[in-house]
Amino acid sequence: MIPAAFPLASRFPALGTTIFTVMSRLAAECGAVNLSQGFPDFQAEPALFDAVHRAMAAGRNQYAPMAGMPELRTAIAAKVATLYGIAYDVESEITVTAGATQALFTAIAACVGPGDEVIVFEPVYDSYGPAVTTVGGRVRHSRLGVPGYRPDWDHVASLINPRTRLIIVNSPHNPSGSLLSVGDLDALADLVRDTGIVILSDEVYEHIAFSAPHASLCAHPELAARSLVVSSFGKTYHITGWKVGYVVAPSTLTAEFRKVHQFNVFTVNTPAQLGIAEYMADPARHLGLAAFYREKRDRFRQLLAATRFELLPCDGTYFQLARYDAISDLPDRAFAEWLARRIGVAAIPLSAFYHDGHDDHVVRFCFAKEDATLVEAARRLQALNPGAPVESRP
Ligand code: PMP
Ligand code: GLN
Repeated sequence: MIPAAFPLASRFPALGTTIFTVMSRLAAECGAVNLSQGFPDFQAEPALFDAVHRAMAAGRNQYAPMAGMPELRTAIAAKVATLYGIAYDVESEITVTAGATQALFTAIAACVGPGDEVIVFEPVYDSYGPAVTTVGGRVRHSRLGVPGYRPDWDHVASLINPRTRLIIVNSPHNPSGSLLSVGDLDALADLVRDTGIVILSDEVYEHIAFSAPHASLCAHPELAARSLVVSSFGKTYHITGWKVGYVVAPSTLTAEFRKVHQFNVFTVNTPAQLGIAEYMADPARHLGLAAFYREKRDRFRQLLAATRFELLPCDGTYFQLARYDAISDLPDRAFAEWLARRIGVAAIPLSAFYHDGHDDHVVRFCFAKEDATLVEAARRLQALNPGAPVESRP
């Protein structure tokens, strides 16, 4: 450790370390089965690695164009056109990003200035709020109604005022697994019609929708005309560590986005982009994802049925929410820490997704795991059952 020259006055005294980092670290520290941070514990297909390796070996290792490799932007345009019936221009309307996190931050920085307001839905993915406050904006929260985690559009309407610059939506929704319907998109369109409000749509789980087809803002022409839509290959191809994602948006919005992007990351890993572009040629690879994760969801729910957790509905994403009232009356952060240390399973306390620490005694489990991992987690969680034999404890 080197001594600091002077005490730095923090610009963000209220911000700690992201809950995903905290819980994954705790899981590693105490040998817990890590169902906290959202990432698969299985491998992507070798064909994807071969494609990246071939690009590297062929010398494709220098800077990609600022907007992304044309091969990848072309593949993205084709996928989005096929799925959502809209033709984004490869040159001026698609930008490859270093994951969705950078896309979201860059979009927020490009749209929001000091004093501007941004509406988000709680429980809310943890990166949106800090990004807004970093650029001087103010976050307004609209709570999703429990049960079901549905938006209350009348409440959203009450938050809209001349300072409202951006509304951030996320479907399929992390952490609740709820979906926006086409009716929700119509309600949103009614609210923003004749305003200058931009929509930022986080659709990183677009291919993991179970109970209804994913309602992308890309497929809603009125909203698409004022939206930046974000996705991530990390979720789709089981490569969260590669950090490659993208943004599609009308050219006027894309131009503003790129003004920030060029000085934020400038450009993204070239061989990874080329490998992903090649891999995207087979649509079965993204179209099969919902069935793949539906099976995991059903398996995990069936395993947890033998525990005292109350399982909430899961219509999309690879997260399962569970209420633990029948097990403990601890606050959710304390419960999650106890669960990791004493029972050996790490989960995310849902209060981390509320600005005021709202606590419904719910934790989030990630089921993007090998069957053996899910079975072992369930075995440990069964130690919480009344009368569970001591030898079943981890
Ligand atoms: N948005 C949501 C809703 C997410 O769950 C995640 C990460 N899991 C991200 C954005 C960030 O994605 P990436 O890892 O591509 O930055
Ligand atoms: N999005 C992942 C999750 O919800 C975590 C990403 C991160 O660690 N920032 O678990």
